[in-house]
Amino acid sequence: MAKCILLKAMRDGRIAHAYLFLGLQGTGKLTTALEFGKTLNCESPTDIGSCGKCAVCMWIEHGNFPDMRVWSPKGQDTTIDSMREMRDLASFRPARGKWVVNIIEQGDTLNEDSANCILKLLEEPPEYVVNILLYRNAASVLPTIRSRCQLVRFHQVSAEELAGHLVKDYGASPQEAEVVSVYAQGRPGLAITLLDDKDFAQNRETVSMVAEKAGQGNIWQALGLAEALRKGDSSDTTDDSDEKDTKFASSAKGTRETTNESLEMLLVWYRDLLATKLMGDNAIIVNSDKRHILQDQAARYPHAGPLLLRIGEIQQARQRLRGNANPQMVTELLMMRLAL
Ligand SMILES: [Zn+2]
Repeated sequence: MAKCILLKAMRDGRIAHAYLFLGLQGTGKLTTALEFGKTLNCESPTDIGSCGKCAVCMWIEHGNFPDMRVWSPKGQDTTIDSMREMRDLASFRPARGKWVVNIIEQGDTLNEDSANCILKLLEEPPEYVVNILLYRNAASVLPTIRSRCQLVRFHQVSAEELAGHLVKDYGASPQEAEVVSVYAQGRPGLAITLLDDKDFAQNRETVSMVAEKAGQGNIWQALGLAEALRKGDSSDTTDDSDEKDTKFASSAKGTRETTNESLEMLLVWYRDLLATKLMGDNAIIVNSDKRHILQDQAARYPHAGPLLLRIGEIQQARQRLRGNANPQMVTELLMMRLAL
């Protein structure tokens, strides 16, 4: 939708000099901004976007195209120094393309000084400059910025629509696309990240293993399983995973973040178990590629009651973790209870 608005502006020759892309993280703002900049500079653009073949398109895909710049925050702020640099560079005509395209990656992190520094550039830009400011939160857009930009909203999309897109444009298998798009909850950017995320795939394996062993009711395994949740790592208990990769993947994130992700996935897994227990083959589940494992596990529970209790336990564990409780204590307590 956002892309249609931009393409129509190009066809009509009514390109604004300042755009404000507003939408949650992962709704495709940066991808769209980059594609828009590429289409503007492409040597033979089509009705649906850049050609993807010309010298400019190739250059942009490989990065460092001199006329397109992404301005990212340094730490918490998009600094006044970087905004000054953006403003000053805008006085030079494009070196290679037709347009100078500035993308401010997180407008939310502009403070008042850095925003003031670019007001004039937004209001009276040289005719070859397009500025695109990406914002996640409408409340953080300063009125002085808002009044100078054309607003383009980015929305979440349905899981089906997203899955279709992942198969068609990103070469995902239908099964992979289905799982990832449900997890991403309608945020295309997040879905695309998850497709390549080794942690995500690894975490799902771990969660499936943890649920398997917890269901065996062996309380002595609980501490080991709790550790697996904190590391997002099942390599201690499965022998087909590449240990080196796993270690690297789990060290890239903090224990709290990994534990949080594991608990979220564990919750999804137990909801799938509950759905499978109640609906059998007709259950609508997230982990659709692991239906047979879910069926095996669900068969061990005499009825839905114990699964409901376990879902409650996982929800409580997530709340404790959000309330800043120690990840080790949260996961150990949870696994003791799931084993009972
Ligand atoms: Zn091109």
